[in-house]
Amino acid sequence: MTTRRETQTRLDQLLTEIEHRNPAQPEFHQAAHEVLETLAPVVAARPEYAEPGLIERLVEPERQVMFRVPWQDDQGRVHVNRGFRVEFNSALGPYKGGLRFHPSVNLGVIKFLGFEQVFKNALTGLGIGGGKGGSDFDPHGRSDAEVMRFCQSFMTELYRHIGEHTDVPAGDIGVGGREIGYLFGQYRRITNRWEAGVLTGKGHGWGGSLIRPEATGYGNVLFAAAMLRERGEDLEGQTAVVSGSGNVAIYTIEKLAALGANAVTCSDSSGYVVDEKGIDLGLLKQIKEVERGRVDAYAERRGASARFVPGGRVWDVPADIALPSATQNELDENDAATLVRNGVKAVSEGANMPATPEAVHLLQKAGVAFGPGKAANAGGVAVSALEMAQNHARTSWTAARVEEELTRIMNDIHTTCHETAERYDAPGDYVTGANIAGFERVADAMLAQGVI
Ligand code: NDP
Repeated sequence: MTTRRETQTRLDQLLTEIEHRNPAQPEFHQAAHEVLETLAPVVAARPEYAEPGLIERLVEPERQVMFRVPWQDDQGRVHVNRGFRVEFNSALGPYKGGLRFHPSVNLGVIKFLGFEQVFKNALTGLGIGGGKGGSDFDPHGRSDAEVMRFCQSFMTELYRHIGEHTDVPAGDIGVGGREIGYLFGQYRRITNRWEAGVLTGKGHGWGGSLIRPEATGYGNVLFAAAMLRERGEDLEGQTAVVSGSGNVAIYTIEKLAALGANAVTCSDSSGYVVDEKGIDLGLLKQIKEVERGRVDAYAERRGASARFVPGGRVWDVPADIALPSATQNELDENDAATLVRNGVKAVSEGANMPATPEAVHLLQKAGVAFGPGKAANAGGVAVSALEMAQNHARTSWTAARVEEELTRIMNDIHTTCHETAERYDAPGDYVTGANIAGFERVADAMLAQGVI
């Protein structure tokens, strides 16, 4: 029988190897550390997981595609971006995960997101593998025509790697309904197939699911509510700080209001807004979804209750709960210390890996309920899988039915993480619970399917 300590030593050796084999990919190293640090108890208890190189296979993507994306701007100048699709693991179903268009995108970022996605998708209980993709293209300030030409060029290579039974991309940072529309159009044109299930996040009139735009934010609030319920509390009357002002942030703020809580902040890369009356969602949607503007415009138009803090971080604003919903590593140890000092009760990750490892340890040590992204933000991909199911059946569900499913799935994920953490002597540790529960499901499928 291998002890936990011996198993941890083997996992640590594997982490060193991962760093050597994947140089200059700090985000991927961070994501691998975060998972492998928590697996020793389950691997020690079930040695069959250690044997057939299972974890070594799990940390190596099944396929990685990188390609050139040339496109012309409105002045006729040619730009060359880089496209990526990392197909990480398909033991549970077709690769599934979003596309990110942001200048910070590189192979390491896409690999960290793809790796996280494998466990997240497993936690939903649905039949979806994990993948992720994107480009270092920056859509900010680009005209619709430029974004369309970029998306068409991107899909001109991507189409040969995806399909409803192979790999099903969706949105992420910089990729929303507009981009999914252009990508779907080019896929249809090249393949001559009306294959709705090849992309999710489509418009409702042409194969999209109701509640998909809302799903990640709504799901994260439901997860936070479940964590609070576990401690005998609810969201009613709580003050929340939310970062970001994109898809996830907006629908997080909406669901908080619906459940009686009050979100007082939002942000973008220029700074943050604090609004003591609570964020006016109609105004925020107008500025961000319609005008594609910056958050300072919100403070200008809202009046006396709101102010814009250039370059600041929302974590300085006192609140009962914190919902990071912008990007990776946006909440560090100092921010976590500030949140704790201000009496935060729960932190739930809408974004992927927004809290640094040091921040997570500090929050957990202080007894704050901490919901890791791979559990807390799984609502988006879960409703994407429901969109695939509707597409397959050529039907469309009501908003009420989708939301009911989303609520059930988020509560199930919470219960699974909670019970798994207890089973492995880490009560209340949702990071351990999420990693082990996701791992067990993928690992069992990989074992059954042989060494491939
Ligand atoms: P959007 O593009 O709609 O919004 C992103 C928001 O985050 C914007 O306000 C943006 O500000 C801000 N932001 C992005 N990068 C940075 C940065 N480097 N520094 C500061 N602010 C930044 O993306 P989403 O809302 O879809 O995604 C947000 C997070 O949620 C990401 O981590 C994503 O991976 C995760 N997620 C998304 C899901 C979805 O369904 N969309 C599902 C699960 C997770 P600015 O405009 O100034 O860049």
